[in-house]
Amino acid sequence: MNTKKLALVTGANRGIGYAIAKGLLSDGYMVLVTSRNKIDGEKATQKLKEFGDAHYYPLDVSDDSSLHQLNQYVSKEFGKLDVLINNAGINYDTWQTTLEADLAEVHQTIETNVMGPWKMMQSFVPLMKKNNYGRIVNVSSGSGAMNGMGGGTPGYSVSKTALNVLTIKVATEVGGHNILVNSVCPGWVKTDMGGSGAPRSPEEGAETIVWAAKLEDQSMNGKFFRDKKEIPW
Ligand code: NDP
Repeated sequence: MNTKKLALVTGANRGIGYAIAKGLLSDGYMVLVTSRNKIDGEKATQKLKEFGDAHYYPLDVSDDSSLHQLNQYVSKEFGKLDVLINNAGINYDTWQTTLEADLAEVHQTIETNVMGPWKMMQSFVPLMKKNNYGRIVNVSSGSGAMNGMGGGTPGYSVSKTALNVLTIKVATEVGGHNILVNSVCPGWVKTDMGGSGAPRSPEEGAETIVWAAKLEDQSMNGKFFRDKKEIPW
């Protein structure tokens, strides 16, 4: 029987998600790499195998049947899920105004950035409860902080604020089961989303997310972190 902890990362084919998978593998976790594009995900998984025990399963977080199939696979194949990293995210809608935002795009953003993690938690918390262990990290953003919702990214910011609220709500509902649920802002990271001008590497962005996946202190639940320190909502 494999005694390694199992971690699932959404959107792990590139960017911060890939670096999270790499970090967790290097720390001895078995990682279930997921991505909405199977070819990209399988390629990434091949590369990640160099760092440890990487497995692959396709997942589009905005597709209910894909979520259902993933849950069936994890339950049958592993019978547990120790760590869930809700990393997949879209649409940093820079320089839009809230009043002129394209609401169809906003809807899609909320579907992916909020409903995706919500459905993933609904799907996997029961398995975590059964095994009395779970660490959930919702990859959020400082632009979702109530004091950070300044210029520019209306749909994205609202989605990350909602994700933070979701973190708090789920954290209060999982008490007594050794499950910790936290939000992490990775900082501004050089990825397709962050752009080439960002100061942090994906590995630097992933560092606090991997740290939050390993927390043991039960008081570290329902919090928002950046650089391994609590930040205001
Ligand atoms: P990227 O755009 O580089 O990667 C986003 C990832 O999410 C890709 O793997 C993408 O898959 C995946 N994804 C998008 N939609 C779905 C979906 N419906 N189902 C499954 N996977 C999906 O972004 P980053 O790596 O920069 O961002 C990762 C997370 O970090 C996001 O939540 C983002 O909001 C957050 N963040 C990033 C910051 C930055 O500066 N980069 C700053 C603060 C927060 P595909 O390849 O198929 O498109």
